[in-house]
Amino acid sequence: MPEFKRVAFIGLGQMGLPMATHLHQRGFQVVGFDLSQEAKSAFRSLGGLIADSVPQALGGSDCIVTMLPNGKIVQAALVTDGAYKSAPHGAVLLEMSSSAPTETRELKGLLGDHIRVVDAPVSGGVKRAVSGTLTVMAGGEAADVEQAEPLLLAMASKVFRCGPVGAGHAMKAINNYVSGAGVIAASEGVQLGLAFGLEAETVVDVLNASSGRNNATEVKMKQFILNGTFASGFALGLMAKDIRIAATLSAALGLQQDNLKLTADLWDDASKSIGGAADHTRLYEYLTKHGDGEH
Ligand code: NAD
Repeated sequence: MPEFKRVAFIGLGQMGLPMATHLHQRGFQVVGFDLSQEAKSAFRSLGGLIADSVPQALGGSDCIVTMLPNGKIVQAALVTDGAYKSAPHGAVLLEMSSSAPTETRELKGLLGDHIRVVDAPVSGGVKRAVSGTLTVMAGGEAADVEQAEPLLLAMASKVFRCGPVGAGHAMKAINNYVSGAGVIAASEGVQLGLAFGLEAETVVDVLNASSGRNNATEVKMKQFILNGTFASGFALGLMAKDIRIAATLSAALGLQQDNLKLTADLWDDASKSIGGAADHTRLYEYLTKHGDGEH
């Protein structure tokens, strides 16, 4: 399959900047765009090319990567004012944001036969975006995913083929439900231990050597919560959005998943209470206050 000649990378935030940088360092011609001047300057200082607008980035780009907050923003960036028409016919969009699968399918319809769509959201957080070892969950036509795979593997160590367009985004929402529920369980477990008189570090060490371990106990509790840094780089509002996508999907499919709904409601309430821009690991603080009856 042909290599991509030029890659337009839209969204150079916490995740997009290191991902675009890996592509640039692997020899892809990458033209970045972000609404934030600071983000554009950061990419330029790492050697990347910068465009002044989405259409300018898309012009001549046979591959478009979006790494934006959500699917509505992706749609507005590409479809409003017909920006996508600046890309050559047949270009591939790799929609790597964590978006709702229904919106991704709608986007595919709006882009028609001009742009091929692959949803390719990621897991691994900022740390693995920086090390280029993300996990990608891809949805799309098999030939499109196959063509995109070498480029995706410049940012990731594993690409899962999940099914047709939207399947990657559905998988990502499922993952973040399980991950977000894990943050709640780990936080409440530590808080219960503290209330009983156990050391927090002891609780985490035992969980990590036992069946209670999860991603939050292994790479969040000591690293970002107990040391008070709350600097994982993943915003609380983004986690709340992802779990709400899973809850909405569940309801649309006619499932009665009360614990998923409760988890989505809790993260939404925390996001309203603390602010969506706060680091998602601050859920621990929210739960502490909640336990004290301060809410
Ligand atoms: P971020 O807020 O750091 O970055 C988003 C970037 O998009 C910002 O730089 C912003 O200026 C830019 N932007 C917003 N609207 C734009 C527009 N219309 N045109 C151009 N640029 C625009 O967010 P992030 O943490 O990098 O997350 C990006 C996506 O990746 C989200 O969908 C998120 O859910 C997902 N994600 C994040 C993590 C993480 O750990 N941070 C992990 C996996 C997936």
